[in-house]
Amino acid sequence: MSSLEFVQFQARDDNFGVLIHDPNSGRTAAVDAPETAAVEAALATRNWQLNTLLITHHHHDHVAGLADLKQRHGCEVIGPRAEADKIIGLDRTVAEGDALELFGEAVTVLDTPGHTLGHIVYYLPTAGVLFAGDTLFSLGCGKLFEGTPAQMWGSLQKIRALPAETTVYVGHDYTVENGEYALQWEPDNAALQQRMAVARDCMSKQEPTLPTTLAQELATNPFLRPDAPALRETLNMQNASDLDVFTRVRELRG
Ligand code: ZN
Ligand code: FE
Repeated sequence: MSSLEFVQFQARDDNFGVLIHDPNSGRTAAVDAPETAAVEAALATRNWQLNTLLITHHHHDHVAGLADLKQRHGCEVIGPRAEADKIIGLDRTVAEGDALELFGEAVTVLDTPGHTLGHIVYYLPTAGVLFAGDTLFSLGCGKLFEGTPAQMWGSLQKIRALPAETTVYVGHDYTVENGEYALQWEPDNAALQQRMAVARDCMSKQEPTLPTTLAQELATNPFLRPDAPALRETLNMQNASDLDVFTRVRELRG
C-alpha cells in the first residue's frame, strides 16, 4: 500500500501542478514546474520543502519554474533523456525501462512521443497514479506539435494498457471543450454525457474537473476509443484501422 499524498493545484491560466508528499519521511516532489509562485504557495501552506522535481516535457508551461525551484530548494530535477538538450537544469535523465524510485516507491517511466518527441509520463503502480503531462487530457489528448499520429497512438496504447482504476493527473483542464468535441462523434454515449454534466458543474463552481481515472477516459475519451463502433459509424470509418480512426479524430480536432 502506498502512503503517498497527492495535492493538485492550479498554475498559470489552465495548467495544473501536483505535489507528491511522503508523510513518513516528510519529503515532497512536484510534477512539472508551470511557474514558481504557484508551486511555492502549494508547498508553503503545508510547510513542505521540495526534494524532487519530475518533468514530463520541455514546453515552457511545464518548466518555467524549474530554475527558481531548484535554486530555492536544491531539489533533484529528473526529466526526459530525449529532451535533455532542451531542458536546462536536469540532474538526472530517464527513459522507458529505467529503474526509478520516488521516496521508496517504484516509478514506471513510459516514453510517450507525440505532443513532443521526448515526452515521458510517470506511473506509480503502488499508488495507482499516472502523471500524463500533455499526452493524455480528460476527454482529449495533446496536440501533435512534434510527433506523428502513429507515435501518439502508440503512446496512448501504452496508457490504455495500464489498470483501469488508475487515477490520472494531466497538465491542463480542457475537459469541457474537449467533451463538446467528443459529443460530435458519440452523442449517445451515456458515460460521456454524464462526464460532461459533472464537468460543466465543476466549471460553474470554478472547481477543477481533474484528476480523472483511466476507466472514465476509456469509456468517454474519443482519442482512446478509435475502436468504438458508434464513433466509427459517425466518422463513416467502419472498416478503417484504429490508427486511421485516431488520426482522423486528431486531425478534425485542429
Ligand atoms: Zn506541452
Ligand atoms: Fe502544457
